[in-house]
Amino acid sequence: MANRVDARQTVTAENQRTPQAIILLGGPGAGKGTQAREICSHLEIPHISTGDILRSNISQQTPLGQKAKEYMNRGDLVPDDLIIDMVRDRIGQADCQGGFLLDGFPRTLGQAKALGGLLQDKRLGSPMVINLRVSTEVLVQRLSGRRICPSCQRTYHVTFQPPLRSGICDTDGAALQQRADDREEAIRERLVAYDEQTAPLIGYYGNEGRLFDVNGEQTPQLLTSELTRLFEVA
Ligand code: AMP
Repeated sequence: MANRVDARQTVTAENQRTPQAIILLGGPGAGKGTQAREICSHLEIPHISTGDILRSNISQQTPLGQKAKEYMNRGDLVPDDLIIDMVRDRIGQADCQGGFLLDGFPRTLGQAKALGGLLQDKRLGSPMVINLRVSTEVLVQRLSGRRICPSCQRTYHVTFQPPLRSGICDTDGAALQQRADDREEAIRERLVAYDEQTAPLIGYYGNEGRLFDVNGEQTPQLLTSELTRLFEVA
C-alpha cells in the first residue's frame, strides 16, 4: 500500500544517515526535475536525471546520444539495455557512495528489476520511492506551455510562470526554447508510454512498503516543504 505523506511518516535519523537510493516517480511534467534539485541540495546527494544525461549525450553527439535521439524526439522510451548500462556507470561513480536520487529512472518494470540487482550489488537496501501524483489534464497543460533556458536550464511556463520579457530568460537573457518532446504529438506519446510502462511501477514499489505518494498538483514551494518534511530527522 502506498503511504500518504504526513508528519508521522518522517524518515528516521537512522535512515537518513544510511546511504540510500531515492527514486522520484511521476508522469512527464509532474515536477520531478524541480523537486529533485531541491531534495538533492537538502540532502547533499547527487541528482541523476536519465533525461538530462541523454540530452547531454545528444548535444555532444556521442554514440549513445545518436541512438537515443529518435526515440526521445518521438516521445518513446529509449531501450532498457542502453538506459541500464548508463545508470550502472553513473551510480558506480565515487560521488554516489553516500546515496543518490534517481529522476526519470526506472521507467519500466525491466529497469526496476535491473535496479534492484544494482542496489544489491552496492549493498544498498530497498529504495525509498516518492510518487508525485498529477492528473493527465494538468500534465498536458504543464508540458505544452513549458519553456526552458538553454543556458541555465531554468524552466518557465508561458501562462503559469512567464518570464518578465516574453521568450527571454530572466536570469541570463538567453532566448527560451521548447523541448522537441514538449510538442503536442510527442507529449501524447510520452503520456501513453507513462501509462503503459511506468505507472505500473507504483504498484510494484507499493508492495515493498517504501512508497510515499504525494500530491504533485500543489505549488512547487508547498510540495518542496512536504517533501523536506519526509527527510526530517524524527
Ligand atoms: P525526461 O527528461 O525524464 O522527461 O526524459 C526525456 C526522455 O528521455 C523520455 O521521454 C525518454 O525518451 C528518455 N528517457 C529518460 N529516462 C528514460 C528511461 N529511464 N527509460 C527510457 N527512456 C528514458
